[in-house]
Parts: sequence; C-alpha cells; structure tokens
Amino acid sequence: MNEAHTVSSRIRHAVPVGPVIIGGGHPVVVQSMTNTDTADIEATTRQVIELAEAGSELVRLTVNDEDAAAAVPHIADRLDRAGCNVPLVGDFHFNGHKLLARHPACAERLAKFRINPGNVGRGKHRDAQFTTMIELACALDKPVRIGVNWGSLDPQVLARLLDDNAARKTPLPVETINRQAVIRSALESARMAQDIGLGADRIVISCKMSRVGDLVAVYRDLAAQSRHALHLGLTEAGMGDKGIIASTAALSILLGEGIGDTIRISLTPEPGAGRSREVKVAQEILQALELRSFTPRVVACPGCGRTSSDYFQVLAQQIQAQLDAAMSDWRSRYPGVESMNVAVMGCVVNGPGESKHANIGISLPGSGETPVAPVYEDGEKTVTLKGDGIAEAFMERVRAYVERRYGSS
Ligand code: SF4
Repeated sequence: MNEAHTVSSRIRHAVPVGPVIIGGGHPVVVQSMTNTDTADIEATTRQVIELAEAGSELVRLTVNDEDAAAAVPHIADRLDRAGCNVPLVGDFHFNGHKLLARHPACAERLAKFRINPGNVGRGKHRDAQFTTMIELACALDKPVRIGVNWGSLDPQVLARLLDDNAARKTPLPVETINRQAVIRSALESARMAQDIGLGADRIVISCKMSRVGDLVAVYRDLAAQSRHALHLGLTEAGMGDKGIIASTAALSILLGEGIGDTIRISLTPEPGAGRSREVKVAQEILQALELRSFTPRVVACPGCGRTSSDYFQVLAQQIQAQLDAAMSDWRSRYPGVESMNVAVMGCVVNGPGESKHANIGISLPGSGETPVAPVYEDGEKTVTLKGDGIAEAFMERVRAYVERRYGSS
C-alpha cells in the first residue's frame, strides 16, 4: 500500500461491513453491483456468486419493491449453502423505509444499506423517511452508505445553494454550485444520520459524478471536509475502453492522493456479457497503483521490428491465463504469490534486462536472433530454453518457482 494512501486513510473512520472493513487505513475494498431482477432469486444468487468469485468483496443489490425485499433472505440462504459469504448491500430508493420495515428478514440479512439522499422522498416526507431508515440501521447495527449521485441530486439542497449564489455580489459559476450541492447533500445527510444516532463509524459517503474533472474536484473537497470513509466511483462510466479509461483516469488521481476507501467501476456490460469485468478492472487499477495485489502480473513488451512473430504475445496471454486459472488454488497454498511478476519479452537484446527485474522472466528470440530463450529467476539466468516446447517448459519453471519461493512461507 503506498504511503500517501496509508497516511490519508488513517484519519478516516473504519466502517465494518460484515467481515470487511472500509476505511481506517484498511486496504481499498472492491465492490460491484448486480443487474439481475433481485426478485429472480436464482439469477441473482448466480450473479452474486459470479461477482464474488471474480473478487468482489461486497455486492450490492437493488431492493426496489416488495418482491425484491422478500427475495433477499432467500438469496442470502442460497449463498450460505453455496459457501459464498460475500456481504450484501441493499440499494434503496423512495420506498426503502417501507420495505425495510415490512421485511425485517431482508433488513437483517443485508450487511449495509445504501441510501441516496436525492431519492429518499420529496418535501415534508423526506426527513421522516430518511429517519425511519436510519433508525432501523441503528437498531440492527448496520452501516449505511449515504450515496449521492449527480444525476439524482437532492433538488432542495441545489435550490437553496442556487438562491444563496444568486444573492452574491459576484455569483460563482453554476458548475461550482452543482459540485458544492453534491457535497452538501452528502454531509448534511451524514450529520442528520449521526443526530438520529448512527455512529460515524457506521457511515460511508459517496458523491458520484459522471465526468472525471468533476469527480476529482468533488472528492478532494469531500476528503478535506470530512473524516467519513469514502466510496469512490465514476458513475455512468460507459462501455468498453471508454468506461475503463475514464474510471482509471479519475480513480488513479484520487487513489494516488490517498482518497477512496472502497471502489466500484460502473461499466456498462456488452449485451449478453457477464458482469465480472468491472471487478477485474477495479482490481487492475488497485494493482497497477500498487495499493493491493490480486494476481501475479505478466509484464510483456509491446513488440517492435525486432519481434519475429506474435509468438511472444501468444505466450504472454497463455501465461497470464494459466496464472489466473491457478490462483484459486495458489491463493491459499502460496501466500504472497499474488505479488509475483512474470516477464515475457520479445527479444534477447532488451528482454533480459526486464526479466532480471521480474521474479521470473523469459526473453524469446527476435528476428535474426539465435532461437533460444534465456530464463531469469530472481535476477539470475537459470536456463536457456530451446525447441518447440518453450511455452510448456517455461510454465513448468514458473510452477517450480512458485512452489520454491512461496510454498514455505
Ligand atoms: S524487448 Fe525487444 S522485442 Fe520487445 S519491444 Fe523491446 S526491443 Fe522490441
């Protein structure tokens, strides 16, 4: 974990969510959200397991109606039977106060409630409905995420700040007021929850924005103004590369400054695709920033005019796939293996240098080079592989290295 994050997180409240702790200097938690109809018990259970197996440490479900609330305890039972103990978070909007009160088993089986202050209720009902949910959280000792979303900002807070701004001699730009309103909505709701009786160590805050610049500006201010644990994510990040790049850009800046105790990458899945991509992207971001390690990394060169074929790219892919597949077994047998670096380089001119810095690395022959592949382990050349079975022989050496290096720890 880098120093900036450690220092900043130490001053944030630690919030226990089942066996997971958010904030307080603990490692940044990866979370995700289902997109099944929660009332479909079988499909939702299946997707929660898929997300948990991908590495999601919390999984949020929408609890939008009576059927969804009634389904939650059945989903939790099925997860128990499947040996999946990932904490479930209930996402509540306008009718959350009714659903939590009418479905005590749902409230009991959820590890955390997420409440969006902009979607609690309108006018005079808002505070009463918010109070009901917080009182239930207090009674059951459940943490709550006060999750403000730019797209559903509390209109009362925004109207108040816009009025104040209009009365200024020199009004601030509207974008500034919008950002302030998002933060104000979160902090006022957190204050209200604490006045009702919810401890500061039971509150996580998020202020999700859809533009990178807005998200960075809002979280910098939020982090400066509050000690609450912070959930970080770019909302509506989008599909494919665009969503991944925008999320990575925003989260890298903030996490690099020590801001963010739990993250979610809100990717729009390709039609018909699984949901676990967002979990993998979150892990990749944390691992690239050296905040956490999840799986051994293959360092591969980009290839150039020296590369004789795409063999090294194929080998790099094969090795990463084999490492990913091995991790479910290795994680418990070889503690620390998730931090291992494996280099797969495309030539023997520059490859050995990178290989020496990895735990284990191979340099494949480039154009015009002798068809041999030197292997380095812990900086020392240990063998030169030749012939057709280089990939298999190298993977064999990786397995032996893992056993030798991590097997006894
Ligand atoms: S390691 Fe060799 S093949 Fe790969 S990019 Fe560098 S020079 Fe090119």
